[in-house]
Amino acid sequence: MKKILLHSGRVIDPENSIDCVCDVMIQGNQITAVGSLLESHAGPEVELINCTGKLVLPGLIDTHSHIYQYVSGRFGLSADMCGVYSGVTTLVDQGGASCITLPGFRKFIAEPAESRVLSFLSAYLVGGLEGHFYPELYRPACSDVDATVKSALANSDIVKGIKAHAELGGFARWGLDVMAKAAQIGEQTSLPVYIHFGQLWPMPDKPEYQVDPDNIFPQVLELLKPGDVLAHPFSRHPGGFVEQNGEMHPLVGEAIERGLKVDVGYGSHFSYKMAAKVLAAGVVPDTLGSDMHGYNTNVPAPAGTPDEHPDEEHLFTGTSRFSLVSTMVSMMALGLSLEQLVPMVTSNAAKLVGMSGEIGTLGVGREADISVLSDEEGAWLLRDNEGTEVIAHRMLQPIFCLRAGKRFDATSQILPVPCVAYPEGLPA
Ligand SMILES: [Zn+2]
Repeated sequence: MKKILLHSGRVIDPENSIDCVCDVMIQGNQITAVGSLLESHAGPEVELINCTGKLVLPGLIDTHSHIYQYVSGRFGLSADMCGVYSGVTTLVDQGGASCITLPGFRKFIAEPAESRVLSFLSAYLVGGLEGHFYPELYRPACSDVDATVKSALANSDIVKGIKAHAELGGFARWGLDVMAKAAQIGEQTSLPVYIHFGQLWPMPDKPEYQVDPDNIFPQVLELLKPGDVLAHPFSRHPGGFVEQNGEMHPLVGEAIERGLKVDVGYGSHFSYKMAAKVLAAGVVPDTLGSDMHGYNTNVPAPAGTPDEHPDEEHLFTGTSRFSLVSTMVSMMALGLSLEQLVPMVTSNAAKLVGMSGEIGTLGVGREADISVLSDEEGAWLLRDNEGTEVIAHRMLQPIFCLRAGKRFDATSQILPVPCVAYPEGLPA
């Protein structure tokens, strides 16, 4: 059986309270030992990989991906491009599949992928099609509570939550009804409901449909249970954590105290200005989530799909190449520590999908899902889609990952190339 010894990296495993320079031994598809192992475990049959100066982390978990490729039109990306070839071993697809289309998701996406693929099942019958163009597909009549509960429970090995939208365009048209159905699905399955906040669909062009964005958050909170997830806290779009007056919504703190979780859901609406505001108010997200999709990454579009996205006015700038790891870099540039970030993409993410201790950990006996990253100090320029620039003083990049013991080098075409902040030397 193949043996690999990851030697002398900084091993961080929040689940087991480990943060030290040591070794990790892999045999076949399992982690068999963690500690100072070189003397006792090296040998001719062991592949020794020098990880000096590198981070050795539990296989990273992206809690917000869009990988129902082809079925969700231009939206869905290749799972392994976002996954193992970007240093990420587990992907949680957010709402691509529905009760109607989950069998296809399992057969054509989850089973063939090298990456581990999980689903937050859409609360809507159509799932995550090119929905931004067709809001009528997402009206309350297009959600079937019983069918969605049945599908989720019958596929509990991959369905780990429910995806819904609390969104300005939808609220203007139909009020709370769709969210109420999503909350029922969450209750009946005991699964977390992941709620997109911030505008997604275009506003209807009718005066009787006006809605106050700041009213959405409190109404939705009433429907949610502990463990449900508030997504996109750093969005530049109205209707989320930050009110129209520029201040954080007063109910955010209360919601977190009640046990609601926060996922960054980075995407293209991420705003450094909003993030700085929300972080300064003391909100530390539980999980990260990249929210990459076919409209915010520069990959060839399938023939005949829309050329642009109504909501992505800055298409192909700023974040058109990114990865879960680059979103970690971005959050560190805003002041979060590596020690705060690692749980967001490992142990906390595992907890969100109900797989604590099973994934997102380097526990002995666990499947060998491991991500190895470079970790450098310097100065790099980052820019969001509003044009705000920040300097990152720490750069992480995926080098390779092991998924169930099998090695994948980080060769994905959407990995960003770091931009040195001061190519001519530090400013005077
Ligand atoms: Zn998304």
